[in-house]
Amino acid sequence: MTYVIALPCVDVKDRACIDECPVDCIYEGERTLYIHPDECVDCGACEPVCPVEAIYYEDDVPDEWADYYTANVEFFSEIGSPGGAAKVGPYAFDHALVSALPPRGGDHG
Ligand code: SF4
Ligand code: SF4
Repeated sequence: MTYVIALPCVDVKDRACIDECPVDCIYEGERTLYIHPDECVDCGACEPVCPVEAIYYEDDVPDEWADYYTANVEFFSEIGSPGGAAKVGPYAFDHALVSALPPRGGDHG
């Protein structure tokens, strides 16, 4: 099981969750962050600090954002399991689901 970062993080990306993660499994893409499904230890520490409520336990992702589970998993298809986000730094791409979104400014709704 894993936690998942959904739509509200896109173009917000304030990185508050990264500081909370004990295993450094929250990776940065160009427009959003992604939780590594195999490295996440389900501790839940990241979820309450997100200012836009973008983080959900896998079973609790709202239906409208269900595809973000897949996006978080597939983001790592080619990256694999680096074992820590800090050492690899931000990636200059996103999952196709995120790349296709129009810029999300304003109310982040
Ligand atoms: S649930 Fe815990 S291990 Fe998983 S991403 Fe959040 S802080 Fe990291
Ligand atoms: S705390 Fe929320 S908005 Fe900030 S980077 Fe993490 S998931 Fe994105």
